[in-house]
This record gives sequence, C-alpha cells and structure tokens, in this order.
Amino acid sequence: MMEAERPLPMPPLLRVNANGLYCETGDFYVDPWCSVATAVITHAHSDHARWGSDRYLTSEPGVAVLRARMGESARIEAISYGEAVVHNGVRVSLHPAGHILGSSQIRLEYRGEVWVVSGDYKLDPDPTCTPFEAVRCHTFITESTFGLPIYRWPAENVVAAAINDWWRSNQQLGLASVIFAYSLGKAQRVLAALDAAIGPIYCHGAVERLNGLYRAAGVRLPATHYAHDAGKDVDWSRACILAPPSAAGSIWLRRFSPVSTSFASGWMRIRGTRRRRALDRGFVLSDHADWPGLLAAISATGAECVMVTHGYRAPLVRWLEEHGKQARAIETRFEGEQDEGTAEGSNDDAGEPA
Ligand SMILES: [Zn+2]
Ligand SMILES: [Zn+2]
Repeated sequence: MMEAERPLPMPPLLRVNANGLYCETGDFYVDPWCSVATAVITHAHSDHARWGSDRYLTSEPGVAVLRARMGESARIEAISYGEAVVHNGVRVSLHPAGHILGSSQIRLEYRGEVWVVSGDYKLDPDPTCTPFEAVRCHTFITESTFGLPIYRWPAENVVAAAINDWWRSNQQLGLASVIFAYSLGKAQRVLAALDAAIGPIYCHGAVERLNGLYRAAGVRLPATHYAHDAGKDVDWSRACILAPPSAAGSIWLRRFSPVSTSFASGWMRIRGTRRRRALDRGFVLSDHADWPGLLAAISATGAECVMVTHGYRAPLVRWLEEHGKQARAIETRFEGEQDEGTAEGSNDDAGEPA
C-alpha cells in the first residue's frame, strides 16, 4: 500500500532572528530592532519603531507620529486600515490595535495561512484612536505587558471623573495639578478625559508637539497651552499641567509649585508604585489590554496557536495551555521606553525640548 501523500511542512510565516520578527517568504520584518531593508511598523513607540531601516510601512493615521520619531529623511509608506499590499506572495494588511493613534495589528496571509501580530493593543474605549478590531487567524502573536490576573482596569469614565475631581480639589487647596503621562498616546488620552471647563491646560513641549499631530489627524482634544510660553503672572493653582514622566523632579517643574503630582499608568494598579515614585496620586489608565482584555482578544481571533511576547509571558502561556491552546513564549525586544512597556526606570522622552 502506498503511503498517503503528506503536504510538505510550510516554514513558519514569522520567526525571530537577530534583527527581529522576520517573514522569510515575504522578506520583511515586523518592528525590527536593527536596520533592515523593509520594516512593517505596528506603531511609533520607540520600542517598536527604530531608526535606520531603508523603508517603513505603516498605517495612514500613523504616518505623522512615525515621521516625528524617524525624521524627515525616513522613507515611510502608508496604507489604510484593511488595505493590502503583497510582498513575494505574502499579503500584508494593517488593522486597528486601539493602542495609540495609528497603531496596527499586522495580518499576513500566505497560501491560505493567516498570522496576526498584535503589536501593543487594548480593547478599552479611547477617543484618540481607532478601536481594536478582532482579526481571525491561525496564529496570533500577542503582547502580554499586563498578562497577570491582578491586572484589571477600572472603567475609563470612572478614571476620568477621578482625575477631574482631583484637579478641582487641588484648585481649592491652591495647588497646581501635574499629571505625568507618556508623551505619545497616553498624554492625549488623558487630555481627552480632562474637563476643560475646570481651568486652563498646559503641556510640556514633548506633549504639546504630539497634541498638534493628533489634532492634524482629526482627533478632538481640548485647547492646550505650551507651558514654555506662559507669562510670569499665571495662576498655576488653577491649571492642569501634562508632562512626560521624565519631567518628574526636574527644574522645569519648579515654576508650577506648590504642586500636586500624579501619574496615569497601568502600573498604578500595583500598591507601592505611587509611593516609590513619590507621587501624590496614581490613576490606573493603560493603553495595554488588561488580563480579561488579553483573553478576550485572543479568543476572538480563533487562533489555534498563540505566541506570547512582552511582559508576563509565562503566566499567559500557562493559562492558554490549560485552556486547550497551543501556546509558547517568544523573545522579542518590544519593551522599554515611551509607553508602559516596563514598570520602572523608563527613559522616555529623554532629551526632548521642554
Ligand atoms: Zn506601545
Ligand atoms: Zn510596546
């Protein structure tokens, strides 16, 4: 009897090599950490979008923020969400990740096999970017920055109300309200949550520059002032001031004193983080999926195979295996600055003008 003919095993559509996540068939990388010929970029945070590649592909709404990070000389091509380009037979399309303006999941299709790279994502509502879209696939490469069951985010409107209440009460105490938030994405999300009727809003230069790009992309944000241009007679006790975390403890901050300081981040969920950073308040507001969000997103893809990068990989892999999925952790370098990739010691916005 003849042995049944078995199809030749296909090489994996993506694998990690020294430069990053590589699609050999299509000859391109997704968020490479070295200079390569073709880089498909999920979003403009610096742990995903690095300098020096010959050519970048990103989503249409993400071009301006990527350009701001890469400089005028970078060759950036853009496609709309849902639109596809073909590289050596691999069909590549970008789908909203709900993380920051222009953030994408990357869908690859080759001979009927579909892989999706999530990039950073969240399912929670955010008026500053296109909502996350579940994309069906065979293999899903997911982030797991907050991949532990303790991470559950409060509702966004509850956090917004808490921020505005805190601002009002600071006014009564004669304190300026300073909110530290990562300059790309988080700061604009906080801004969208602020009630501009309470008082004037001032921004650090790193934040104000990106606010302009968000507005140009059609995102509605309350009016802001560049703190650097403020006159000597400003009553700071009425104001809310948005600054990157790197401004904490800086000389730049002194002009606003006396102040009440706060930080908007998923890490504020952990007791002790606020105290360690010597902050008066912590607001739990993340641009990453919480534990239920990760599970919901993974389930919605229908993927039988899940690869986990970023953050708490092992607990998520274990949970998925216990629930009948094929899962494994993969090593990438998608963590660090400019978003909430690491709990402590981020060097985001270092060197940016105040
Ligand atoms: Zn990010
Ligand atoms: Zn990241």
